[in-house]
Amino acid sequence: RFKGKDGKYSLGGTCLNIGCIPSKALLDSSKHYEQMTKHYDVHGIAFDNPSIDVPTMIGRKDKIVKQLTGGIAQLFKANKVNYIGGSGKLLKDRQVEITNDEGTQVVQGEHIILASGSVPISIPNVEIDNEYILDNAGGLDVGKVPEKLGVIGAGVIGLELGSVWARLGSEVVVLEAVDTFLPTVDQQIAKDAKKQFSKQGQDIRLGARVTGSEMKKNQAVVSFTDKDGDQQETFDRLIVAVGRRPYTEGLLSQDAGVSLDERNFVYVDNQCRTDVPGVYAIGDLVRGPALAHKAIEEGVMVAEVIAGEHTQVNYDAVPGVIYTHPEVAWVGKTEEEVKESGEAYKTGAVPFAANGRAMAAGETGGMVKFVADEKTDRILGMHVVGPQASELIQQGVVAMEFGATIEDLQLMVFGHPSL
Ligand code: NAD
Repeated sequence: RFKGKDGKYSLGGTCLNIGCIPSKALLDSSKHYEQMTKHYDVHGIAFDNPSIDVPTMIGRKDKIVKQLTGGIAQLFKANKVNYIGGSGKLLKDRQVEITNDEGTQVVQGEHIILASGSVPISIPNVEIDNEYILDNAGGLDVGKVPEKLGVIGAGVIGLELGSVWARLGSEVVVLEAVDTFLPTVDQQIAKDAKKQFSKQGQDIRLGARVTGSEMKKNQAVVSFTDKDGDQQETFDRLIVAVGRRPYTEGLLSQDAGVSLDERNFVYVDNQCRTDVPGVYAIGDLVRGPALAHKAIEEGVMVAEVIAGEHTQVNYDAVPGVIYTHPEVAWVGKTEEEVKESGEAYKTGAVPFAANGRAMAAGETGGMVKFVADEKTDRILGMHVVGPQASELIQQGVVAMEFGATIEDLQLMVFGHPSL
């Protein structure tokens, strides 16, 4: 369903077109700018008038997107995978109706995988125009740095896109309905992250539920309710990032036979089978975290199931990452989850302030925390806020996949100095 800026169908879904990859490209550019303007002086490096050319930054991002989506087209070709651009609808008996500019056609599948992903949730009285009031896609294509940027939702998208524009000089205010910051993240980690983001000047207001917005003289006047009652705040640009929902519009004909659950996700078993034999569904369309790496593994699992192999995604070891600075990353259970389950557990946390490599890099904020089973010593969760958390967490994934204990990690030799 995605088309590139050239109007041609573009493979790779949300992740490559308007999600993970373009946001990381902008996060990288903005991080360079922030380092130059705020953090190089301690190294004795000085610049005269550093500046940011936003169209060049956006152009670089578009080039990366084009390279990767084009890469998928090449992979398809190399692996003899045909594709047809258009909107697909599942009919009965494993048939798919495809509609595009050329008309409608029906293809028959022996096996079918539904992978239509998700779309942003909208909130009443806040109308996305992608000029002033932006969804995640619009938030990646702003033509110049907004003076004052409002972000609705302190979730993953809100924090990442807010970071991009804050680093480039926007005054950023994040309005979050819930009182707890990152409620699904280990709270010791979340509190530390919030402290660091606030210290950087990001104005994250918890318990602030947005009720509407109105355009006045090219500015968005946002109404919200917090502990002090009804409030208003005016922004030059507004990013709406209040979650995503499965994209099922037009996906299923009435007699397709595939059921949805109470939250409108396509209902699947542990191996992504729908109610119709031979029809599978994966990714954001089904239960579990809306993450590209989870979707990819489900796709691989389904291909293996179809090929008659024994296989299973380990849903207990799917990492999560927020690519802010510092990054936040985790795998397994939070301390709160383990506590609630009643299991006997122990925790340990080491701050980066005690780490030589972190000191040398000037990145001493944050920590690594482990949650482990009190009796067996087996690792139940790893949680990081700090430098390169996105890369460090992969060690936790490997450890958990191998059923490692804390002692196993202690017996391993790691390069010194390293994070
Ligand atoms: P989210 O669910 O992470 O956060 C949405 C936030 O908006 C919540 O905290 C919610 O309380 C708040 N909210 C809802 N209504 C509100 C209102 N009226 N006023 C104020 N706040 C309100 O959703 P998201 O950030 O939009 O991200 C969507 C999905 O995309 C996530 O599931 C995430 O997994 C995925 N994603 C992942 C990455 C990554 O892996 N790095 C990056 C981007 C997106």
